[in-house]
Amino acid sequence: MADEDDHKRTINYGESAISYIKKNTLPAYPRSYELWYTYSAGYNQGLNRAVNDTIKTDGRINTEQMLSLYGRFLSPTRLGDRLDEVGSKVSKEVEDLVDTLKLSADATSDYGTALEKAGEKIKSIKDPKKLQACVSHLVKSTHNAVTSNRQLENQLRESKKHIENLQSSLEAIRYESLTDELTTLNNRKHFENSIDRIVEQSRVSDRGFALLFTDIDHFKSFNDTYGHQTGDQVLRLVALAVKQNIKSLDIACRYGGEEFAIILPNVGLDQAAKIGERIRHAVMSKELVKRSTSENLGRVTISVGIAIFRTGDTPHSIVARADRALYLAKDAGRNVVRTEDDLLAEDSEDVA
Ligand code: GH3
Ligand code: MG
Ligand code: MG
Repeated sequence: MADEDDHKRTINYGESAISYIKKNTLPAYPRSYELWYTYSAGYNQGLNRAVNDTIKTDGRINTEQMLSLYGRFLSPTRLGDRLDEVGSKVSKEVEDLVDTLKLSADATSDYGTALEKAGEKIKSIKDPKKLQACVSHLVKSTHNAVTSNRQLENQLRESKKHIENLQSSLEAIRYESLTDELTTLNNRKHFENSIDRIVEQSRVSDRGFALLFTDIDHFKSFNDTYGHQTGDQVLRLVALAVKQNIKSLDIACRYGGEEFAIILPNVGLDQAAKIGERIRHAVMSKELVKRSTSENLGRVTISVGIAIFRTGDTPHSIVARADRALYLAKDAGRNVVRTEDDLLAEDSEDVA
């Protein structure tokens, strides 16, 4: 079903992208498609403005302009490209550093030789004038050595600054690669990393964790009624309700389209159920008003499923139980919290 929805939602963007490529007689590279698809979807405002401006002035867009727009608005968002860029800057910095150190080593060894020679010479000099000349030569070499040391120090300081900047670029890239853009929660990849880690930890310690899954109720019909963009705002709102009801060590992730997964370290089932109730309540308490038109969109609700780490659990097995608990919540009519204890109750009913 989700596939079909995504198809319907995106096929128009794709078709419109192709028609822009045709209209401007552009090469149909994957990049052209990406640019015009993004333009049609309208979620990169800077790109749309720049494209519109170019069309307004020139009547069309040529290949060169298109590639330059791509470079400006799309390729910086490609983490791979940015990583390559940081990588090559690091290599350059290290090369420069090695050159500087080599030069300075040469200068130091020249100074050493001068000092040694002067030492020998001084021993045999009797003439005070010659002695003076020799000393002033030494002073000059020393002065040169001091200056080049100072230069080296400055260059090293400069390099340190550059490397610190590169370090923070890498951190920013790492942050983005693990963050969901729409909600700013952690993304699915971060979830997978985190659950692997916490399952490992829980196996060897007596501390466990709870896993909470949420899914928005009847979200498809909300999207169908109010549009996908308004739906996206609702996703942000639900993410906010999650953030406001968890603690700093908890890990909240966007698991899929409208599903969130929250890892609660050192939390038991009862406590997790309380947290789930608080999030559920926070979401249903919000009255949704469309900012642009002040239209009242009513409320949305979420269903919640909770599992707790048990001996022998794998990431897969605990996720499966949280998911089943979530389905139980949907079956119970939605807008409720269900835990894996409710699964047990259900299983025994089945047997009876
Ligand atoms: P249920 O109560 O059973 O969960 O009903 P539902 O309609 O929410 O069903 P389901 O969870 O299967 O549907 C997910 C829908 O969520 C499909 C799609 O319309 C919407 N959706 C998924 N991802 C996004 C997204 O990123 N943005 C928006 N706006 N909607 C999304
Ligand atoms: Mg769903
Ligand atoms: Mg749903």
